Amino acid sequence: MSTAATTAAQLERLGGHLRKLRLLKSGERLEALLQHAAAQELPYADFLEQVLGEEVSAKAIKNIAMRTAMARFPFVKPLETFDFGYQPSVDKKQVHALASCHFIEHGDNVIVLGPPGVGKSHLAVSLGLKAIEAGYRVLFTTAANLIASLTKAHGEGRLEEKLKFYTMPRLLIIDEIGYLPIERLGANLFFQLISRRYERGPMILTSNQSFGAWGDVFGDRVIATAILDRLLHHAVTLNIRGNSYRLKEKLKAGLIRSHDDNSQPGGDI
Ligand code: ADP
Ligand code: MG
Repeated sequence: MSTAATTAAQLERLGGHLRKLRLLKSGERLEALLQHAAAQELPYADFLEQVLGEEVSAKAIKNIAMRTAMARFPFVKPLETFDFGYQPSVDKKQVHALASCHFIEHGDNVIVLGPPGVGKSHLAVSLGLKAIEAGYRVLFTTAANLIASLTKAHGEGRLEEKLKFYTMPRLLIIDEIGYLPIERLGANLFFQLISRRYERGPMILTSNQSFGAWGDVFGDRVIATAILDRLLHHAVTLNIRGNSYRLKEKLKAGLIRSHDDNSQPGGDI
């Protein structure tokens, strides 16, 4: 349906212009916007502001969704879903300061340490999402996947290309350092990546092992020291010392089935 002043032919021409300009949201909403403007007798500037405003927010939402997909998060949980009350060793103020993304501008690293289930990956993902909202490109990987991918590329003579792939995103998140032992070649390739990003690209790293144990994680004290030396030069460390959130959920579930409950809380966390 067209408004009194808009002919079908004019609507079609307008639709064509909007498609050519890739103003897709405005294209979809054109008739409704025109009718609204006519009914409200909107001033020209208000009408234009409404059309352009809707287009800009639609593009921003699409852009965030695209960069979120490109980041390859294992799950998408915004910071607002993190229960700080359950984990008092996490400084809420400090995390909110990190959420402002100044650490990215400064090229600082964030290292999250703590036992399994305390929310390390959750915090890393949440901060990654904030970085995406702030306009940065983010990539999430686990230490195991990163090292496997570098090792494969090394074997195929494509190491340089792969190092570039991991150096390009403004923020790189490396989750789960320390869960699996790392071979000598893997440790060496990991070190090469850290050196590449050193003082250029900020990273968020998580580990269930204290820095003192990284010599064992990387199977080589010298390489571990060289890696830590670069990582910690400009870094904020969050040490989470609390109970597993998975355990909390298990206990809650356990309470519901308290009669025949023979599960072992914490057995597989
Ligand atoms: P970690 O990486 O330290 O092993 P995760 O971040 O994977 O732990 O957390 C385990 C699960 O518990 C996830 O589903 C996560 O979303 C949830 N979780 C952990 N801590 C919290 C918290 N403080 N508030 C809300 N959910 C949490
Ligand atoms: Mg984790």
